Formats: sequence, structure tokens, C-alpha cells
Amino acid sequence: MSALAEYETFDSDLDLWDKVCLNLKQVLGEGIFKSWITKINYERHENQIVYLSAPTRFIRDWILSNYERKIVICFQKHKPEIGKLDIAVKPTKQNIQPNPNLLINPADSFKISENTNTLEDNIFGYILDKRFTFESFVVGKSNELAYAAAKSIAESDSAQPGSNPLFLYGGVGLGKTHLMQSIAWHMKKNSPSRKVLYISAERFMYQFINALRAKDIMTFKQSFRNIDVLLVDDVQFICGKENTQEEFFHTLNTLIDNKKQIVISCDRSPSDLTDIEERIKSRLGWGLVADVHSTTYELRIGILQSKAAELNIDIPAAVIEFLAHKISSNVRELEGALNKVIAYAKLVGKKITIELTKDTLKDLLRSTQKIVTIEDIQKKVSERYNLKLADLYSSRRIKSIALPRQIAMYLSKSLTSKSLADIGKKFGGKDHTTVIHASKKIQELIDTDQDFAEDVTILRKQIEQ
Ligand code: ADP
Ligand code: MG
Repeated sequence: MSALAEYETFDSDLDLWDKVCLNLKQVLGEGIFKSWITKINYERHENQIVYLSAPTRFIRDWILSNYERKIVICFQKHKPEIGKLDIAVKPTKQNIQPNPNLLINPADSFKISENTNTLEDNIFGYILDKRFTFESFVVGKSNELAYAAAKSIAESDSAQPGSNPLFLYGGVGLGKTHLMQSIAWHMKKNSPSRKVLYISAERFMYQFINALRAKDIMTFKQSFRNIDVLLVDDVQFICGKENTQEEFFHTLNTLIDNKKQIVISCDRSPSDLTDIEERIKSRLGWGLVADVHSTTYELRIGILQSKAAELNIDIPAAVIEFLAHKISSNVRELEGALNKVIAYAKLVGKKITIELTKDTLKDLLRSTQKIVTIEDIQKKVSERYNLKLADLYSSRRIKSIALPRQIAMYLSKSLTSKSLADIGKKFGGKDHTTVIHASKKIQELIDTDQDFAEDVTILRKQIEQ
């Protein structure tokens, strides 16, 4: 053993895991690390095997199929002999007990104004959703900047000049409100002396108009005077509303000048806002502008997994993957679909399976299903087998061309609603019997050759995406 290797042996195994975690954070990125690696526990290592534990079967399977190699490599940096992971499923306490937040009905959520850390004026009493905390927010590539910025504001005890205002923008249902309310909850818990106010831009407008009517603008203005952090959700609502805009601008300026933190959310970037004065637009983009992108497949998996764990319901990995694959529009729809499946399974007293999921979500899936065309199929098949499109239209019988052509015909028959004759036509004017023959042949191959079957499944998935 070299002197260096000796030097690198560890006092305890825990040091080893800490070091590996540091490496993993770099290799996998902060988001994946938080979503997955922090969920597993290190147990011990023996010979070439590292023993870990995960709270659910799903987390174990996901980590093994996506990150095993990377984890092993990180271990090898410190213990070169390690070659394999063994992850046991050990439900944690937190996992067994239902999350208390989920048992609370909306009437129990309390108003932020009820606590001394918030604005006392009850006209602004605003209900915060108990579920919207940093802990329940799943981080991925698409939202990691927004998450990091929100977290740093929540954890800081003064305004952050570089991100004042923090402007979060992105499409509907991607977690903007969740992040803003997470800031409010975090501060409520950890910095009770700081006053934080969460308000929607619509409500801001409503209160302002009421104040105008009552000729009591002073009280309205004063309500914002003592705030340390102001969170304004859905600011696009004040576009086109001149007086409200003006008042909002003054509120913003006064607070920023007094070193108070502002966080704004919007469905588009400052530069894409219309019907708003230039100077306001430019003021909004003055701090940090963070885009919440649409979700990736992996983030959707993480979100579904975390919701299932919160509800303490064991959902088969295949169902989670199916949902993440099919429902890519936004997180709200994804959650809605999961809840629907859970509720339906409970109602009919059946296990959650792919069939039950498909059955429950029939209508939703129909409307989100991509319409596949024969041209899409031909394009993907020719790319996959490195052919020219013309090869698929030709009558060449050489196997390297004939087989992909038959696969494309088979997929056209199963993924589109075109008639056999129409399909034949699109392949250089072939007869419908050629299409039948091709489909039969491919089906036989799928039934007898597993590798081939997998290949076709992958192709089909790519086409449907
Ligand atoms: P937006 O305000 O951007 O329209 P919301 O914050 O209301 O979206 O999010 C819609 C739903 O999706 C909420 O129930 C929220 O908890 C959930 N959600 C969105 N993003 C995430 C995430 N990254 N992790 C966990 N839940 C999320
Ligand atoms: Mg919102």
C-alpha cells in the first residue's frame, strides 16, 4: 500500500460517506443530489460491496438504474476495491407516518396575518398553502436557479442587492407560487421577527381600488411600510391597469430604496410584458431574473415519487414512469393525474397498475396524446437504421433495407389510424397485402426475439414522444 493510500484511509465509515457525498454533489449536480442521494442512507461496506438503504422500493430502483455507476466511481476514488452497491429498502419513520400537512383541510390553513411576523392589517390576510414549502419542492435542472435564488432570500436576514427584485417567471403550473410561499413559510418559521407579506397582484389591485374608493390611500400605503419582504404573485395581472401599475411601481421603489426584499412572479419575462410602462418594465428586470422552465422527464419522476411518499402510497415504478412520460404539460396536471389514479383505485378497491391508470385517465390521455403521422415514423426509422427516406419508398429487397421498411409499416399500422391501402401508398405505392405481410412478419419477430422486441419498443417510444 502506498503512503498516499494509507493517508487516505478514513477514521470512520461516515467520513467516507461524507466524502462520497461531496463528490456526488459535483458529479450529479445540486438538484439531483438533493432529490435522490439525500434520501438514501449509508450502512457499511464490506469487501467490494457498499451497503446502502433507501426508504422506498422506487427510490432504490431509480438510483440503481440511473446513478449506480456514478456512485460506485465516487466510492472508488476513496476505496478502489469497491465495485457494487447493495441497496436495501428500509422505510423511515417519516415515510410511515402520513405527512400531517396533507391531513389538514383548507379551512385549517391559517392566515399569514395571524402571526406577529406578518402584516397585522387584516385587509391583507392571505391564506398560505401549507403544502408549499421548500421541503416539498423537488429540484431539477429546469428550476434549480429559481429554487436557489428563493432559498437564499429566505435564508438571508437582509435584502439581497443582486437579486432585488427577484423576478421568477415561467408557464402555468411550474411551481412559482410554491416557491414564493416557501419563502414565506421559511421566514415565518426561522426569522419570526421579519415581516413578510405574500399577495397576488390581483389582490393588490383590488385593495388599491377599494382604498381609492374609500379615499383612504394613506392607510393602503402605510400597510406596506413595515414589510421586510414583499412577495407579489402573478404580476402580469397589472398589465394594462394604469393606476394600479403606478401605485405598484411606487411601492416597489420605496421598499427597494429602504433595502427591503421584493420577489415577483409572472407568466412571462419582463421584456415580454406588454401594456406596461417602460420604466416599470426595466425596474422589474433590475435584479435577478430567473426562468422556471418546463419540467424534464426526470424531474417529473422525482415529483411523482415525492408525492407518493408524502401520501405513503406505494406506486409501482412502471406507473410512475408511465405518468411522467405521458403527462408532460405541467406539474399541476401531473399531480392531478396521480391523485385521480389514487382516488379511483381506492374507490374500486383495486391495486394501482398500468391498466388501472390507463383506464382512469382515458380522457386526459386521449387529449394529450401526440398524433403520430406516417412521415414521423418514416423519419425516425430511417434515422435509426441509417437509411435514406427514398430507401423506404423503394422496392429493394436487401435485408438491411427491407426489414426497417417492414418495421415502419408495422408501426404505421399500430400507431396511426390510416388504412392499409393508405399506408401502402405512402411507401412508394405498395399494395395493402404488402403491409399485412410486413406487419405479420414483424409481429412474429417481436414474439420470438427479445432484443428485436426491445428495439422496436424504444423506437415506438421515441416516435410517440
Ligand atoms: P405556478 O404558480 O407556477 O402556476 P404552482 O406553484 O401553483 O405553479 O404549482 C402547481 C402545483 O405543482 C402545486 O401543487 C405545486 O406544489 C406543484 N409543483 C410545481 N413544481 C413542483 C416541484 N418542483 N416540486 C413539487 N411540487 C411542485
Ligand atoms: Mg401561481
